[in-house]
Amino acid sequence: MSNRYRIAVIPGDGIGIEVMPEGVRAIQAAAQAYDFELELTEFDFSSAAYWQQHGRMLPDDWFDTLKGFDAIFFGAVGWPEVLPDHVSLWGSLLLFRRQFDQYVNLRPVKLLPGVPAPLANRKPGDIDFLVVRENTEGEYSSVGGRMFEGTDRETVLQETIMTRHGVDRILKYAFEIAQHRARHVTSATKSNGISISMPYWDERVAAMAKNYPDTKVDKFHIDILTANFVLHPDWFDVVVASNLFGDILSDLGPACTGTIGVAPSGNINPTKEFPSLFEPVHGSAPDIAGQGVANPIGQIWAGAMMLDHLGETAAGAAVTRAFEETLASGRTLTRDLGGTASTTELGQTIAAAIR
Ligand code: ATP
Ligand code: MG
Repeated sequence: MSNRYRIAVIPGDGIGIEVMPEGVRAIQAAAQAYDFELELTEFDFSSAAYWQQHGRMLPDDWFDTLKGFDAIFFGAVGWPEVLPDHVSLWGSLLLFRRQFDQYVNLRPVKLLPGVPAPLANRKPGDIDFLVVRENTEGEYSSVGGRMFEGTDRETVLQETIMTRHGVDRILKYAFEIAQHRARHVTSATKSNGISISMPYWDERVAAMAKNYPDTKVDKFHIDILTANFVLHPDWFDVVVASNLFGDILSDLGPACTGTIGVAPSGNINPTKEFPSLFEPVHGSAPDIAGQGVANPIGQIWAGAMMLDHLGETAAGAAVTRAFEETLASGRTLTRDLGGTASTTELGQTIAAAIR
């Protein structure tokens, strides 16, 4: 009997609604080619339309509704005229992240053929690494406060929280994923300036590295690391970072490889106790929504990451190969890639190339 996976599909808003069918088309084509089954269930929540109708982003029972799924395939949420930014984030994605303990944010950074790259003289193959961001603690704690408000002694304090459990599990994820790649882990630090939490991070990196004697480990302070993303992107394989540093690097990385329309992101619970969420990096892009010109590759690549997470690694690789081949052919490209094809035409071409 073939494996069967239950996927919650949440298209969301704007171009999320346009690129999601292409993401679904690709993963279904992969399921057929690699002999497994996908049971897809679509949900209308986590969208501006749901917000307008119900005054909230999710139904009360969202946790029980979603927790039994093997993964969540997410489009994009946000519609500036009706939905305040903090509501779209705090009202859905951050709840998923926290309640489903998606403690890894994973972003591949890969220069693809035919994508206009902002870095000169870089070829596909030069840039191919992963940013692994700690997604639950670190600098984004809500611990702190204000003192002496309204006086000239006004003082503001916000703490960083690093737990051994939290730091070790993200480091372990990074080292494990490096075993399937070039066995090279780079740690983002700032232990010369942040004198308590970052030396602790460094210590845990050194401790974890002992378990992986065949893995090359290096570290850079975050300031020079950002410079090296631009100057020497070929130096990296797996880059692991705290919540704040990872946030910065996971935007900078994809920016070094061209259009935002192709980049994917995974919010992952590696234990598989709860569903992980896969989405394109881009947002709902109100400026081009409804025109059928959005690039579906970010959604399709997110689908490939999801298949990989589910254990269908060959199928995930086939999807990646299909869009790379399509890009390399230079035909059927969307407007952001310099072509005239529609979202659907590019999606269909990629799905047809999956085998
Ligand atoms: P959000 O607040 O939801 O992140 P945003 O408007 O800040 O939305 P994006 O939606 O990511 O950011 O869009 C940024 C720019 O990139 C827009 O000009 C948009 O047209 C373009 N863009 C985003 N996604 C795509 C895509 N898939 N294909 C083509 N262009 C895109
Ligand atoms: Mg945005």
